[in-house]
Amino acid sequence: QLILGIETSCDETAVAIVKNGKEIIANVVASQIESHKRFGGVVPEIASRHHVEQMTLVIEEAFRQAEIEIQDVDAIAVTEGPGLVGALLIGVNAAKALAFAHDIPLVSVHHIAGHIYANRLVTEMDFPLLSLVVSGGHTEIVYMKEHGHFEVIGETRDDAAGEAYDKVARVLNLPYPGGPHIDRLAHEGTPEIDLPRAWLEPNSYDFSFSGLKSAVINTVHNAEQRGEVIAPETLAASFQASVIEVLVTKAVQAAKEYKVKQVLLAGGVAANKGLRAKLTEAFSELEDVQLVIPPLSLCTDNAAMIAAAGSILFEKGKRADLTLNGNPGLDISIHND
Ligand code: ATP
Ligand code: MG
Ligand code: FE
Repeated sequence: QLILGIETSCDETAVAIVKNGKEIIANVVASQIESHKRFGGVVPEIASRHHVEQMTLVIEEAFRQAEIEIQDVDAIAVTEGPGLVGALLIGVNAAKALAFAHDIPLVSVHHIAGHIYANRLVTEMDFPLLSLVVSGGHTEIVYMKEHGHFEVIGETRDDAAGEAYDKVARVLNLPYPGGPHIDRLAHEGTPEIDLPRAWLEPNSYDFSFSGLKSAVINTVHNAEQRGEVIAPETLAASFQASVIEVLVTKAVQAAKEYKVKQVLLAGGVAANKGLRAKLTEAFSELEDVQLVIPPLSLCTDNAAMIAAAGSILFEKGKRADLTLNGNPGLDISIHND
């Protein structure tokens, strides 16, 4: 089975071809970071225009890498949402055009289902499982009793983890996207500043990062008023320690309560070295639970993950038709039977 995946929800134009849902035979990502950097974030209009310019080139490159032809493809999987509507539409329309022209089945995929299925490109999924999703727009814990079934057991009530990273990075005058820069700085400093941890109610798997973000901003401003400068390494390390402690603690608690076989890390913030290390440490003590962490290139946005999720949905008989539209507010439960 060969699935063509197309992903354009944000600022990566990505096309991939995945065999049997597990094996990458082509994975092309055209990043637009350089174009958005000077604005300090993604500019939707610019993102859409880049997707239009890149789409056919990226599709051609994927087929060149895979050494197959469009007729060999069993289904086309495309990100329906969530994301920027203008950006989503470029991928959705490319997928529909190819599906229509070559009479190939079309499958729509929720972007976060894709992030979770990046893990199937690493190892076989073993149910029940939990996924800790930490990305630019989402921070949630998702329970899966079987393939293609997603239950959100906790989610952020305000900012996503990646969003908090990017906002704190701006305060520290670091370039967009700030996550990797904070991660690097954090390893050069020590977490000396006591910043808040938002535990919320006991037994809640929800998250909140806006208070932490405000605490960082206040710490910087108060220091400025006293004519002091806090080393950015110290701030980065303190901020990162707070984020990671909450993420790891809640993931471990949820894994125990739900008695899962696996915990899958997913989303752009899964590229964080500190988070990867602390999770590995914590789960090494839980013998019955296997922690899976994708390689960095599969954590941030890509189309291999969309093809991997699409593969399972295709096998389950899920199909989209030519009325498919980009849906910025799509809910992950649309995949559930
Ligand atoms: P979503 O997946 O929720 O729709 P998105 O697709 O924009 O959002 P991703 O591409 O999954 O988000 O992840 C991008 C986010 O990951 C950015 O906020 C970025 O700062 C963050 N990120 C990337 N690498 C790291 C890192 N090493 N440490 C922390 N954050 C990181
Ligand atoms: Mg991105
Ligand atoms: Fe993403």
